[in-house]
Amino acid sequence: MSETLTAAVVKRIARESGADLVGIGAMERYEGAPKAFDPRYIFPEAKAIIGLAFRIPRGYLRGNEEGTLFYQYPAMGYANINEVYAPAVIREIVCFIEDHGYEGVPIRNFGGTGPHSDFDGTPGADAEFSRSVRFTRPVRPGWPAPDVYVHFRIAAFVCGLGEIGFSNLFLTPQFGPRQRFAFLLTDAPLEPDPLYDGPALCDRCGCCVAECPGALSGTETVSVTVAGRTIEMSKLDPWYCAFAYASGLSELNPFLPPEAWDELPDGRRILSGEKKPTKQETMKIWGLLGKYFPKPNGYNPAMCGGRGCIRACMIHLESQGKLSNRFESPFRKRRPWWRLPAAAPPDPLP
Ligand code: SF4
Ligand code: SF4
Repeated sequence: MSETLTAAVVKRIARESGADLVGIGAMERYEGAPKAFDPRYIFPEAKAIIGLAFRIPRGYLRGNEEGTLFYQYPAMGYANINEVYAPAVIREIVCFIEDHGYEGVPIRNFGGTGPHSDFDGTPGADAEFSRSVRFTRPVRPGWPAPDVYVHFRIAAFVCGLGEIGFSNLFLTPQFGPRQRFAFLLTDAPLEPDPLYDGPALCDRCGCCVAECPGALSGTETVSVTVAGRTIEMSKLDPWYCAFAYASGLSELNPFLPPEAWDELPDGRRILSGEKKPTKQETMKIWGLLGKYFPKPNGYNPAMCGGRGCIRACMIHLESQGKLSNRFESPFRKRRPWWRLPAAAPPDPLP
């Protein structure tokens, strides 16, 4: 143990270990949070939550944008970051903290929202994804049942890394909506960062809603108050997003044959976007989607590639010069493939 464990030292180690952004939040910012989302029940002695952001490189989205390579984004933009890269970085930081006599509790991204609804902490939309919710019970009077879920966008806000946009996605001044998060809790007394107070990133332009295939509402909103600040965002239909981003719409998925889901009574209408699937239909469709994806890798196909919430928002924020990660040329280089007329002439390479 050669140097005192300070916030600056932890941040330096986190960056050297591979995190793109690091922020530290005070646990008191969770005062008033639903118990099921309150990480103080995971480590009651924790004094800080450390937020790590891992950029999704812009090129990971190129294949979805051009409509010619779809498996890289879920493989590299989801699975690799969540399952391989971030856990390795967390371990480095945890070991460093524990070499200084404090504990580090890892909170990695498992690609879901747990057995609770998005913000209020009651068993909700995602309960049906998790068999465990049927059996889970509190093990101590007054405490929440396991697993307590650290809501990642809220945690990133608590750590001062940026703001939550109207799209529901977290926006940072470095990468906009292009990052994934991991966290760790520690009893080390680290100086917290302030909540993000930089220039506003989301200007309610509506590009996310306009490009989303139907999961984000342009009129209905939900609000949540965190650390005294109220955040308002579009009301997201999580089941429709699950259906659409995972390749359920023919307009998003060039691999889908017309006969897909003929075994569902309303399959053709769902495939064309004429009818929104019910939760039960969505779950059934998820079971069928693997047949229509070129390289199943255990992660969701993510065919939407965040068309509205990531790509449209990123294009908007980049065009405004709001992001510090800059490029020589704009992301969108030609008319998007999903807007081409049916009889469009051949498009030569530039
Ligand atoms: S696309 Fe516009 S409205 Fe939507 S989150 Fe981004 S900046 Fe906000
Ligand atoms: S992933 Fe696609 S369907 Fe889901 S909110 Fe984003 S743009 Fe909409």
